[in-house]
Formats: sequence, C-alpha cells, structure tokens
Amino acid sequence: MDIPWFKYSVDYTWLSTKDGEQGHDHTFNLLDPEGRRLYFSHVVGKEIAWLREYLAENTFIAYMLAPKNAGKGTYTKGLQEALGGDYFTHVSVGDLVRAAEEEYRAEEKNSALYKYALENYRGYMHLDEVFAALLARTTQSLIPTEFVLTLIKRAIDSVPKKTVFVDGFPRNLDQVSYSLYFRELINYRQDPDIFVLINAPLTVLDERIKHRVICPECKTPRNMVLLPTQKVGYDEATKEFYLNCDQPGCKGGRMVKKEGDELGIEPIKQRIMMDVQLMERAKNLYGVPKIELFNALEADKALDYVHEYELTPAYSYSLNDKKEVVTAQESWVVEEHGVKYHSLLPTPVVVQLIKQLYNTLKK
Ligand SMILES: [Zn+2]
Repeated sequence: MDIPWFKYSVDYTWLSTKDGEQGHDHTFNLLDPEGRRLYFSHVVGKEIAWLREYLAENTFIAYMLAPKNAGKGTYTKGLQEALGGDYFTHVSVGDLVRAAEEEYRAEEKNSALYKYALENYRGYMHLDEVFAALLARTTQSLIPTEFVLTLIKRAIDSVPKKTVFVDGFPRNLDQVSYSLYFRELINYRQDPDIFVLINAPLTVLDERIKHRVICPECKTPRNMVLLPTQKVGYDEATKEFYLNCDQPGCKGGRMVKKEGDELGIEPIKQRIMMDVQLMERAKNLYGVPKIELFNALEADKALDYVHEYELTPAYSYSLNDKKEVVTAQESWVVEEHGVKYHSLLPTPVVVQLIKQLYNTLKK
C-alpha cells in the first residue's frame, strides 16, 4: 500500500535489544505474562528499577501521539505491566468525552459534571452551548478545547497526584499550543512533560483492520493473519479458511468479518492524516522532550537489531492430503513505498519507551 502523503522512516537509535551489556541470545515467550516479565527484567531491568524509584517520588506528563489504531493503549498497558504497579494514570480524552455525554444526559444540570464545569470552565462559548454541543456531537471538533481541558483537569483532580499519560490531546493543530501550558493548568508546573510519538507504516494498520474477525456470540476479536484461534476451519463452498471461536465459556462458532473492515484504513483516513500532521508539528516543537517509538524495522536490517521472536508472526493456512487444515508461521512482512518491513510485537516497542523514559528523565 502506497500513500503519497506519508513516508515511514526508522531511527534505529533505541531499537536494539542485541547490543551492549543488554545483548542476549535467549528466547522469551512474549505471548505469555511470565515470558514478558523475564524479558523485561533481562533487557531493561536496570531502567525499570530506576523508573520505579523515580516514579515513587516524582511525576511527569506524557502526551501520546500516533496514527489512530497504532497501539497507544497497548503500549501504555505494556508499560504498566513492565513497571508492575500503580505508577500512572492513562487519560483517554475520547473516553472522557463519551462519559461526560452520558453523565450530562442522565442528570443534566444536577450532574456533578455540570457543577464542576460551572466552577472550573473558562471559555468563549456559553456553558449551555457547550453542553448542547456535547449532546449533539457528531464529531468531537464541535466541543471547544477549553471544555476538553476542563474534562481532563477534572479527571486528573479526581486521583492522587500521579504521572499522567494523555491519549487524544492535542487532537488538532490548534490544540498543540495548549499542550505547551497544560502542566500549569493542572498544577504540575514543576514536572517534566514529554511527547511520545508512535511511528508505524500505515500498511500495518491497514492490514490489521482488513484481517480482523470477531466472534458473533462473545464478540472476542481475533485476526486471521496475526492472531488466530487454535481451531481453523475450511469452507469447501467458498474455498476460504476461517477461525472458530475457542474462548472458554463461549459455545463457539465461525468468526466473521465486520462490514467495512475490508476497506482497511480508508474510512479513517482523514483522522490519520490529522494524526500524522500533529506528529510532524510536535517533532518541530522547541523545548519539549520527545520520545519516538517505532513499530517496524526494515526487513533486511531487522535481525541486526532484534531477534526473530520479537517480530510479529503471520499465520497462513493450507490443507494436507487428509483435507486437514495445517497452520504455518513466519515473520509478518508489510511493504510500503517499495520497502519491506517486519512489525515488532508490542513488548519490544515498550522496551523502546522504557529506555527513552529513563534517558529523558535521568537528565
Ligand atoms: Zn465466542
């Protein structure tokens, strides 16, 4: 897939899990929590220990910027798992807006949200209009940034002072300059703030969507190519392989594609274009530290930096002589602008985050 307005390029500075004192030849099972624990402790044990100590005494604010569906939630969860404690809060602005809409719809001016907004919201749009926009919203863009800031402040005020990962703000180019002063607004004036930029070939996101399937019974999501179940079937009529749900407690059955998924990222292209522009803008900001994560490595260089088991596997299917389904596995390859890439599993991307947090906060 070639997109004229986007070019993925990799900076290998923080990618290696092979060099220096952290070099290793072990294999870890990154699909298993215990495997990940051993891997983290082997590859970034020193950095994790330092970060735990730092976070016990200090806090910071991180703004996550990424193309939609590139894994913001996955990587923050991965960091939480690696640190192994309750060290930070993840604030998703999309979730906050949805929750605010529900809260106001249920109790309107009697809601705690309305009372909080009366005391804390400052902006040009009248509060009644703000709430009307919230209820009527077809897109978040109708809600003024000042109100979004009020929602974020309320979410942060509701927990004891902690490190915050903000997901979904800034959401457009105008909001970038607000983020420069955001820490003053939430009384984190002295704390470091960092932009975390997640880079990925857009083909990775496109392919993930195109191959995803869901169980019609229990709604468990899987992926035909990247995350199959143990039970793969073959449909003689359509000559297609399919997954059977193997979730405990589910009566099982054939997993299906969602309508529209065959279009890949096409329906969210406008959003992704904006995300890409936001990342470009953030890269050019002076005075704010940036951390860059890379989802994929050029296929011909990948094994110089990481091990095969750290790469995302792709599964393919065939029938043997007895007409049984046989599953094969190899490293997933995506091609964009004529370059082949291997995509990393989430865990080694979390390692990039840990190394750079350590490097940035230690200063
Ligand atoms: Zn199911």
